Amino acid sequence: YGPAPEEDAIVRDWLKRHKGRFGHFIGGKFTAAGGETFGVPNPATGETLAEVAIAGKKEVDAAVKAATGAFASWSKLSGNQRARHLYAIARQVQKHARFLAVLETMDNGKPIRETRDIDIPLVARHFYHHAGWAELRDEAFPGHVPAGVCGQIIPWNFPLLMLAWKIAPALAAGCTVVLKPAEHTPLTALAFAEICKEAGLPAGVVNIVNGGGETGALIAGHEGIAKLAFTGSTEVGRILRKQTAGSGKKLSLELGGKSPFIVYADADLDAAVEGVVDAIWFNQGEVCCAGSRAIVQEGVAERFYAKLRARMEKLRVGDPLDKSTDVGAVVAKVQMEQIAARVKDGVAEGAAMFQPSWASKLSTKGCFYPPTLFTDVMPASKLAQEEIFGPVLVSMTFRTPGEAIQLANNSRYGLAASIWSQNLDTAFDAARRLKAGVVWINSTNLFDAAIPFGGYKESGFGREGGKEGMHEYLVPGWLKTAKPAAIA
Ligand code: NAD
Repeated sequence: YGPAPEEDAIVRDWLKRHKGRFGHFIGGKFTAAGGETFGVPNPATGETLAEVAIAGKKEVDAAVKAATGAFASWSKLSGNQRARHLYAIARQVQKHARFLAVLETMDNGKPIRETRDIDIPLVARHFYHHAGWAELRDEAFPGHVPAGVCGQIIPWNFPLLMLAWKIAPALAAGCTVVLKPAEHTPLTALAFAEICKEAGLPAGVVNIVNGGGETGALIAGHEGIAKLAFTGSTEVGRILRKQTAGSGKKLSLELGGKSPFIVYADADLDAAVEGVVDAIWFNQGEVCCAGSRAIVQEGVAERFYAKLRARMEKLRVGDPLDKSTDVGAVVAKVQMEQIAARVKDGVAEGAAMFQPSWASKLSTKGCFYPPTLFTDVMPASKLAQEEIFGPVLVSMTFRTPGEAIQLANNSRYGLAASIWSQNLDTAFDAARRLKAGVVWINSTNLFDAAIPFGGYKESGFGREGGKEGMHEYLVPGWLKTAKPAAIA
């Protein structure tokens, strides 16, 4: 156990090279790191890793101008030419995979095992997959053209992966982008800017500006932006929908969730317990599609909870750079305080709370929060209805399959669902009746670049990934590059 010696040296060298200060990436160059800045702490240690500049109107204008200038030539490249650029980016991501994994872990607090085995490989896969769509665009989407300059605003829970989900389809479609990473986690986006340079991407195709909600609002309101893609809270999604109403901007929103995890009496309970570990303790539960609401059939509930409590005792929470860590640090102190407040409310609501026996011994130096289980949760309670976005599982029981569906759909969200049963008739019947953008059977949190991801209801609209996701970056129209003969 314990982190590999000097695991973080690769990141410290990089930070030193930039003197720990970063500007924005506009028109293929980094701007000076002056003006107003914000600090980027490592949530596992509290140490400030870097100071990053905040983009105001001037910087956002410059980024949109650079993206508009680049659009003229980028949108006219052949599909094969754009594909080559996407392949080149994917290869650079693989080349720097270890650096990116360590950087993401230090910036976000998520375990190195996850960044190394899941986040970064999926980033590369996303660019490889979309290189294919770049080549196929005109054949697969006849009569469609790129939407134009895209504004993209992303959250902190999967910083580089959310960037890939946004940038890869935009570039494949022939769009150019102005992307803003979340203020808690800007570092891998800045490393990605360097990757774009190294991969030879034309200047201005990808622009990265930093800052918080105010910078995001400037992007959303900019008249040079033709399409806005947002992943984050339902609250901000609602603001953006209002802000862009009547502007003619194309909009896609990937928002919150409170996804059900249904365990039928005939489920393989040991597999379902491992499923829960993945559903709610993967990435500290900071996952929009986390299986945060367990719905368990009465006959097996006590046995299931007993197994789950025993499993929780064995989870390892701690240093995210340690390869044996299961649950790392929550992204920031403010997020940890919100989680603690929700848990306190839940206890006051009367639900039974369980945390492992070692919970009180967790280091207080970093943002470590223990895995938490609530049982006997009332379906209408705040605990059952509101997203916590942390390592907290709430659970309730059901008697009949019909009741399970009713409980599962009793939510303002509709992002994902996970079903555990040995009987495929039961599972497929439930899958058809659940209002969820993604349904997993005897599995959870499986993602692939080819599978469209997105929600219903207050989880947003629009899909990311696969052919469906490409539509978000295209609009009906004639390609100006098409030969007149071909049009005739
Ligand atoms: P957030 O909505 O506060 O922030 C998301 C991004 O929006 C950040 O980059 C932030 O700077 C920016 N932002 C904030 N206010 C803005 C404004 N007024 N105008 C424009 N941009 C603004 O959310 P968060 O706290 O960063 O992330 C957690 C939330 O995101 C959770 O609710 C979670 O469910 C959701 N989420 C959803 C998905 C999904 O795919 N559906 C994925 C990840 C996270």
